[in-house]
Formats: sequence, C-alpha cells, structure tokens
Amino acid sequence: MSHPSVRFRLTRPPATRERCGQRYNMRVARMKANIEIDAGGKTFAAGLLADLIAALRRSRSGDLLAITSGEVSVGADLEAWCRFTGNTLVESSIEAGRTRWVIRCGEAPANPDGTRPLGSRLWLYTNFDCNLCCDYCCVRSSPAAPRRALGLARVRRIADEAAQLRVSEIFVTGGEPFLLADIAEILAACAVAAPTTVLTNGMLFEGRRLEALRSLSRDRVTLQISLDSSTPERHDRHRGRGTWARAWEGVELARREGFRVRLAATVSTEAEAEEFRRFLDAQQIVEEDRVIRRIALRGFAAQGVALALTDLVPEVTITAEGVYWHPVGAEDSDLLVTREIFPLADSFAAVRRAFDRDRDHSRRLASIFNCA
Ligand code: SF4
Repeated sequence: MSHPSVRFRLTRPPATRERCGQRYNMRVARMKANIEIDAGGKTFAAGLLADLIAALRRSRSGDLLAITSGEVSVGADLEAWCRFTGNTLVESSIEAGRTRWVIRCGEAPANPDGTRPLGSRLWLYTNFDCNLCCDYCCVRSSPAAPRRALGLARVRRIADEAAQLRVSEIFVTGGEPFLLADIAEILAACAVAAPTTVLTNGMLFEGRRLEALRSLSRDRVTLQISLDSSTPERHDRHRGRGTWARAWEGVELARREGFRVRLAATVSTEAEAEEFRRFLDAQQIVEEDRVIRRIALRGFAAQGVALALTDLVPEVTITAEGVYWHPVGAEDSDLLVTREIFPLADSFAAVRRAFDRDRDHSRRLASIFNCA
C-alpha cells in the first residue's frame, strides 16, 4: 500500500508519452515555478529562511516557488514552515542527486461544500481512453491513451459493496465512459446501488450509444456534460474545434430524452467562471446542476491550480490500478492509497486512516476541490 502521508513525493510519469497519436515531451516532467531558488549550502538555520521570505514578498497567491537543495534537512523544515505559514508543499522531485521542492503560495480555492461526509461519494474511472484530448485533462485521457478498464464484473461487485457501505452518490467517469460497449450495464449496476452521475463530453449519443443512453433510468442516472464557456471559442480552444457545438447538441438530446443534465465548466479564472454563471442564469440552470471548477495543475495541464493531497478532502476514487484519494489525481502516485480494491470496506477504511493521519500531521483544515 502506498502511504499518503509521504504526500509531497509526487512521482512523475515518464518524460515522453502518446497524446492524440503523437509522441511528445510531457511538461509534467518538471512543474514550472514562478521563482526558482537554488539554496546551495543554505539551510533554514543559515540563510534559506530569509530567501524564502523575500521570495514570498514578490509572489501572489497561487504562485509557485521552487527550492533546490542537496541538504536533507531542508525537506522537513520546508514542510513545517509551509504548515505554519499557510503555504502548501505540492511536489518534490530528485534532480541530479538534489531535491527540488515546489511550494504554492497561499491556500487552494476552497469549496463551500467541504462538510460532505467522507465515504458518501464514490468515484469510478471506467476506462481512461477518450474521443477527445483536452489540453488540461487531469488524467491524460485521449484517443491514444490505452484503455484501463475497470470492467463490468468489478463494477458490479463495487456497486454491491458500496450499497452495503451506504454510499449515497456514485460518479462514473472515463476518459469518456460512452466509448465502452457495456456502459449501459455498468451504469445500471451503479444506479441500483446509489443515484449515479455519469461524466461525459456528450458527443457520442448516436447508434448503439444512443440506445445505451435510452436504456438508463431517468430517476437514478444524471448526466454531467462538460461545457467550458457560453460560446464555442474557449471550449474549442481547450477541447478541439467543433466540440462546443457537439456538446451542446448532446445536452439538448439528453434533455429531450428526459434526463437531468448538469453542466460542468473547467475555467482558468474567476472572470471566466463569472461569465459562465451569467450564461447558466440565462439558461435558467438551477444551482444543483452547475459545476464550475478551476483547471488543476495535473495531467496534461500546463497551467492551473497546483494541488497537494492536503488541499483535498478525500473522495474515494477507484480505477483499474487501485484506490485513490481524489478524482483530480486518479493516476498520480501521491494520491494512490492502495492497489487493493476489495473488500471495498477495507479500501474505505484505508482512505479514512490516511485522512486521519494526514489531519493529525498537518493540524489544519483541508479544503475541497470540487469535481461534481
Ligand atoms: S477532460 Fe474529459 S473529455 Fe477531455 S480528454 Fe479528459 S476525459 Fe476526455
């Protein structure tokens, strides 16, 4: 089992990978910082603290500060310093025998819904491959991503055990779940256990996939369709030309079919969020059917909010590879809790234990980053 208390040791994936059928250098090999400090031989007791304070004075909330040092004591001191100053250690990596720590200045944007009980929500990543390759996808989904399927048999067992654990909401996400031939059966199994929301880009409702959609319970299944802006320009810039129009067609079709549709926007700034709120107001979309979240600096994203485990209240997330702390980093080693999915009660207990340990350790309130 991977222990989340080693929480700033985010192991980055290999430096090159397939995206949209092309080999490319992954920017995630090195998190870009606004300020780089080479500490040389300095420690907290000998000069580094003054450098940090000076760098903070030049920084704004959300800026990233990187410190590189060969001194082993610096890591523990940095962690303690972050805890007491309200900054967050978001990553560490080894470069040429020295450690590079990245600190985010200030707290992550909080979610007012942070009182949700741990274990009430369950997330399932059903496959990871996707018909789109959005430039900020937090789990690097794309048409070239290999399918890593949970599979119907495992989903059925998860749903069965989730019902016994009194999970009150299940969220099913892909990549794009409607690529799966058995998505109707997967969603039906989940919907028996708890009200289920399927996250989709809304672009595949034709042929057998439309039939799959039509077979679902209107009472137990909600569609959360991604729409990043009120007009195509920004949505298409991140997701590909023509995708806004096709997503909107998906929204209208799902509504015509009698489904509850929630609209989910991923935005870069508060101004973009505000613009989308005005659009939702005009469309008379009720508050419960709106999700607006910031781009997370994970996966393919080159810019966004850098998030550490301590920023996130856990929402148990299951993929083919194991159980993760939160859906926003469902393939990142720093958020992996255990590779053993079953029995589900043990997975939930592992996440709770990790949360308790982390809370004791950090002695500060975690905030939540909402994905639904
Ligand atoms: S953000 Fe959603 S639609 Fe875009 S590549 Fe990732 S899984 Fe697919």
